[in-house]
Amino acid sequence: MRVLLHACCGPCLLEPYDALAAEHDVTVCYANPNIHPAEEYERRRDTLRAYAAEAGIAVVELPYEPERWREATEGVRDVPTERCRACFRLRLGLTAAEARRLGADAVATTLSVSPYQDADALREAGEAVCAEAGVRFLATDFRDRYPEATRRSRELGMYRQNYCGCEPSEAEAAAGRERRREERRVARELRG
Ligand code: SF4
Repeated sequence: MRVLLHACCGPCLLEPYDALAAEHDVTVCYANPNIHPAEEYERRRDTLRAYAAEAGIAVVELPYEPERWREATEGVRDVPTERCRACFRLRLGLTAAEARRLGADAVATTLSVSPYQDADALREAGEAVCAEAGVRFLATDFRDRYPEATRRSRELGMYRQNYCGCEPSEAEAAAGRERRREERRVARELRG
């Protein structure tokens, strides 16, 4: 089967690609208008492309149009669950349209390797947009391979981002790190 694999970044590509390529003819699709800012988009893309070139993996890149992400998330940007659903629909919808254009049979996504993503929301979004495009959605779950993906990406010296991608997620991740720092400081004080 010809599969167009939506990929969010290099580290997340490693394990899903290997698993799918063992059974299918896989092309990678970098479709991520959610990533902010442009320099970060390029850094993740270049990391993915460098690995793909080394491994002989075919990659197509869709145009970087961050305004599409802003339009897709209008009105739900402050509600992470809804914002991510809209973001999944956008990225997987772009990939599904590209799969149809290329004559691929199915779409899958590397997002399913991340324990930080909502697997049910991903599956719902993937199935809906693929039904519209007339291609199959492979609802994979690679979360059990996340530790190995982390190990391999570290070993390869890949760039590993510390936030999901959009501008709000960058601020949320920074706030989370600050909160954990503060909790550790309070715990140290309590221990004396
Ligand atoms: S947190 Fe990640 S999945 Fe959710 S909207 Fe932002 S970039 Fe998209």
